[in-house]
Amino acid sequence: MLEAVKVALDPTPVQERLLVAHAGAARFAFNAGLAHVKTMIDSQEKPEWSLYALRRWWNANKNTLAVDGNGVPWWPENSKEAYNSGLESLSDALMNWSKSRKGRRKGRRVGFPKFRARNRTTPRFAYTTGSYGLIDGDANALKLPRIGRVHCMENVTARVGGARVLRMTVSRHAGRWHASLTVERADPTPTIPSKGGAVGIDLGVRTLAVLSDGTMIANPRTLNMGERRLKHAQKALSRKTKGSNRRHRARERVSRLHARVANQRRDLLDKLTTRLAVTYSDICIEDLNVNGMVRNHRLAKAIMDASFFELRRQLEYKTARTGTRLHVIDRWYPSSKRCSNCGKVKAKLSLNERVYHCDGCGLIIDRDLNAAINIKVAGSAPETLNARGAGVRPATLRGGGQSAVKREPSSRTHGVRLGANTRKSVLQAKTN
Ligand SMILES: [Zn+2]
Repeated sequence: MLEAVKVALDPTPVQERLLVAHAGAARFAFNAGLAHVKTMIDSQEKPEWSLYALRRWWNANKNTLAVDGNGVPWWPENSKEAYNSGLESLSDALMNWSKSRKGRRKGRRVGFPKFRARNRTTPRFAYTTGSYGLIDGDANALKLPRIGRVHCMENVTARVGGARVLRMTVSRHAGRWHASLTVERADPTPTIPSKGGAVGIDLGVRTLAVLSDGTMIANPRTLNMGERRLKHAQKALSRKTKGSNRRHRARERVSRLHARVANQRRDLLDKLTTRLAVTYSDICIEDLNVNGMVRNHRLAKAIMDASFFELRRQLEYKTARTGTRLHVIDRWYPSSKRCSNCGKVKAKLSLNERVYHCDGCGLIIDRDLNAAINIKVAGSAPETLNARGAGVRPATLRGGGQSAVKREPSSRTHGVRLGANTRKSVLQAKTN
């Protein structure tokens, strides 16, 4: 099993300049290789874009490409691994484009790679060969060839825990450098599932999560404050003139605040998912619309979708460790609109109705708690016992399956664009 161990780096100013130079070298090799491939395509030659071919081409031409104004090569200043990682990502990008064009790749269409501009690319490079990574007897540092011993913010040797390191990617996000080590571990042997029974989880906007047993996990005040600050910063950014220094500074502020909020949320989710995985024997969650997620620009929705994705990702690997079963409910299941007591489904439920009133049985219950109970019931149905797989449509849905996307008003349009309507009409044809 492959796992990523990500640590924050604490480079000296000199090292930081070298990190920037290495990331620039990777970008340079990517762009040079892309220009080469484009020329070959334009001259009707058969372009070769395997990593091997690109590397051979680079080695043959680097003395004429990577030179300064006086014709002196500057490429020896950086590790050859930097150029290699640029060529590797170019090769991957071309391969993905080619496969996507021929219909041999799942997901959205992948376009032809574009040149990478300095100010619009995440600075990134990787080490795959040579003596990089952990240092014997120096647990809080990593060895980066050509850059040196770089201090880390935590004990990285302990985090890796003796596993084999296959790759080290170094990148900068929101002004901070990180190293991500890909390590190979033995598959976890799940322990006996905990005896805590089943639980359903509903992620919310106002509260972080509501469990079907009535536990509410509130958003901490710091998180709400961070989100408010982020909103202000984004507004301020939108007012700045394009290309100005003020705009650049405003953008950096937005990305810093964004990273901070994201880190706080991830930390909360980490604590929540660990607690869930060790406490319960069955965990029920909803599936989410991953394709619709990318197309949304509204902040609250974007943050929630990201949380949802993160919750599921963490639960998947944590339940594999503890032996807890994870049930994923079909996302068309009307968990919010359905009464958890009598099963009656409402035709309409607006987002600001925080309390669910059932006109069938008179139940009055918190909206999110109602949803969490429904998720638990749907996940506990025998036909959905497909731990860690795709959701199975619960049979109970037939009783009143109509609503498409339930969470946010804005997601409705995306659902339609993604073909939700076709699915919906099939469902209705069955039920009516
Ligand atoms: Zn009811």
